[in-house]
Amino acid sequence: MINNMFYYNIALPIKIDQLFIYMSSAVIKKGCRVIVSFKNTILTGIVWDKVTEINPELKYKEILEVVDLSPKILNELLDLAQWISNYYKCTLGQTLAAMLPSAFNIQVQLKVRKLTDRYIPDSNGNSELILNELSKLTWMNIKDLKKKINIKGFQSYLEKLEDLNLIEIKRVYDAKIKKKVVNFIIVNISGDISELTKKQLEAFNYMKKTGKSFPLSQIAKIYSYSILKNLTKKGIIRIEPREITPQTKLFNKSKRPPKVITLTQQQIFAVTQIEKTLDEQKFRTFLLFGITGSGKTEVYIEVIKICLKKEKTALMLVPEISLTPQMLERFYGVFGEGIAIMHSHLNDRERWEQWRNIRAGRCKIVIGARSAIFAPLENIGVIIVDEEHENSYKQESNPRYNGRDIAIVRGKNSNAAVILGSATPSLESWFNVSCNKYTLLSLEKRPLTFKLPSVQIIDMCKHENHKQPFSKELIQKIEEKLELKEQIILFQNRRGHSSFVQCVNCGKLFKCSQCEVSMKFHSSTQELICHYCGTKIKLPRKCTECGSYVFNFGAPGTQQIEKQLQILFPTARILRMDSDSTHKKDSYDSMFERMLDGNIDILLGTQMIAKGLDFTNVTLVGVVSADISLNLPDFRAAERTFQLLTQVAGRSGRGEKPGEVIIQTYNPDHYAVKYAMDQNFKAFAEEELVYRNKLHYPPYYKIARLLFSCKDEKYLKLQMEKIKVIIQKLKSKFDDRELIILGPVPSPLIKLQKKYRYHIILKAVDVTTQSKAVNYLKENLTLSSTINWTIDINPYSLL
Ligand code: ADP
Ligand code: ZN
Ligand code: ZN
Repeated sequence: MINNMFYYNIALPIKIDQLFIYMSSAVIKKGCRVIVSFKNTILTGIVWDKVTEINPELKYKEILEVVDLSPKILNELLDLAQWISNYYKCTLGQTLAAMLPSAFNIQVQLKVRKLTDRYIPDSNGNSELILNELSKLTWMNIKDLKKKINIKGFQSYLEKLEDLNLIEIKRVYDAKIKKKVVNFIIVNISGDISELTKKQLEAFNYMKKTGKSFPLSQIAKIYSYSILKNLTKKGIIRIEPREITPQTKLFNKSKRPPKVITLTQQQIFAVTQIEKTLDEQKFRTFLLFGITGSGKTEVYIEVIKICLKKEKTALMLVPEISLTPQMLERFYGVFGEGIAIMHSHLNDRERWEQWRNIRAGRCKIVIGARSAIFAPLENIGVIIVDEEHENSYKQESNPRYNGRDIAIVRGKNSNAAVILGSATPSLESWFNVSCNKYTLLSLEKRPLTFKLPSVQIIDMCKHENHKQPFSKELIQKIEEKLELKEQIILFQNRRGHSSFVQCVNCGKLFKCSQCEVSMKFHSSTQELICHYCGTKIKLPRKCTECGSYVFNFGAPGTQQIEKQLQILFPTARILRMDSDSTHKKDSYDSMFERMLDGNIDILLGTQMIAKGLDFTNVTLVGVVSADISLNLPDFRAAERTFQLLTQVAGRSGRGEKPGEVIIQTYNPDHYAVKYAMDQNFKAFAEEELVYRNKLHYPPYYKIARLLFSCKDEKYLKLQMEKIKVIIQKLKSKFDDRELIILGPVPSPLIKLQKKYRYHIILKAVDVTTQSKAVNYLKENLTLSSTINWTIDINPYSLL
């Protein structure tokens, strides 16, 4: 120890994979936030551990500020962060940053003031320029100052002036979320009221009834401020600012009473199996495999009830789009206000409040999307992952974790039961059942007399009118249902008007100039829009290559389908739901109410409506084109198609009335389509697993993808040639069956947002091999900083 200083390893939220040593005279615990300066910036870091041996030759920087007295991140989560960083090959600092709501980032403001009126002239007058903008002893934001004078080398002039003691610079730390302060009225009940005017007396009597103290805003609408001011003067009331903890209401009280339910035999069996594990307080993973509408959610609810009885807590992950008011209402109806909700629509303050409620132990149940897996919940009894196959559990930026997989690691670390639920489990999870890693619990039937819908597949190759997206059969069925006043859901997994625009004469395809993908036509604005980067152009009147006026508009999107529906069924009430139509926060809620109240006849939408919806009056689901996901160049295309079709079909027949489903496709014999007909997951899995095994894909092999991108195509290509030597070396270290390496090759989306893309795909026989191989590349690939590269472990997309 030198000069009574302590040294700490600090994890910083940056790409560089190392910890940085800083010193401080304070004793700081692991997991506390500190503020440090790093290169030219100020960062919020997390104390990782104490450093016992330092290099006396080196000069260490001092920690600028210690933010927390006690750790912000639970010990258990610190261990988890270490695991994530090792497994996903991302930095510890980035992982820790992802665990805390962004509101915990400390903002730093730099302020400057002039100390004297003296100044020392320099050759170009820049110092004078700065000093003239400042007035003596008044603080000014450096940002504002910089904007005003806009000179080169601004920072160095400031430093020079500081050295000369002409100016002073200070840093002001500021939490992103501030405490809220509002004015309260405190009523002096025994005050002298003899002097009051009639109006003032009325106000006094009103306030006496309201209570001893309350926020001023409560009566500001009723009585004018001048009355309140006069009452203050007369000593009848006092106005004082008070700090409040606002509690945002995240859900409304249910308008419908919760259903009374008697669990089915299979539901009871599942619950008791899980209860046994809870009794033992041992880690165990269950795959709750139940067809759509079989009552999985009821099982979750029972298990959570048991958990709470045992004084344990429960964490439940659901896909972002299933976090609907309808779903929350169901849990809220059973558990009341002890639920914390975490999803991406919360603003910073709301998220921060939820976090604090969990940390303080006020909420024992957490329901949320992917990142809720990092909720600071202690004493966890069960972790539930609903729709475990969903790709929204995968984070597509660093750390590129999968929430479902983290759930299992966290469950193991806290001796909890983990439940993965799905009607269409991922093949990885299904495979884990067959190797006895997971325990299978099945719900094979819908409760009561609810039946699975009957499914009809329409071969669109036999369909004559190719301008018309609907087959005769589908049109007829829709008419029938409209007549019966039953509701219809139509599914088309493509937004916009059409998939591409092509010149019929010369074949020119309108592509995004930044991304090399075809642009989609949006008819409402007559624009071509790139769905990857958002670039928009007006639809040209004629072909820019040959001048022809005739375009082919490709396969229809939801906008075009909507138009066709309006023409075919002019009296039907149609609602379109896709990410273009749901910008408003409450449009989803209003859709629910309108569907439930029977004010919509046809609900048309993208995958946004494929899941979770439970409307008993929906008796027809139509899939306009099942081919969209089937044609993706991705090894999971069949799996995704099967999942989507099964999920959408499951929206039909959820009440007493039997449901029907019509699937239109150009691939009627594809096994993903065929097995989706009767929701035969087992048969689908069996066939799909054969392919996966043959082609060395998951679940048999572990995939890692290294993606390289660069604006300069030639340079990127050249560098990719160069790294082939390292790839060869890596190959020679392993047996051919242990490690398969593809690439570097251009990725299917060769250009995105102006950057060209190449990738390497590693297929490893197990996790250890994968980890070794990726670490080797991490250490040996040296690329210039103009090439950006990322590592994705168990990627969802290989595009
Ligand atoms: P899943 O989550 O498997 O799709 P849900 O739990 O949403 O299925 O159940 C589908 C519908 O069946 C819901 O309306 C639910 O209230 C109802 N339900 C579930 N279990 C029972 C039961 N045992 N008796 C009666 N209705 C049930
Ligand atoms: Zn043309
Ligand atoms: Zn683009």
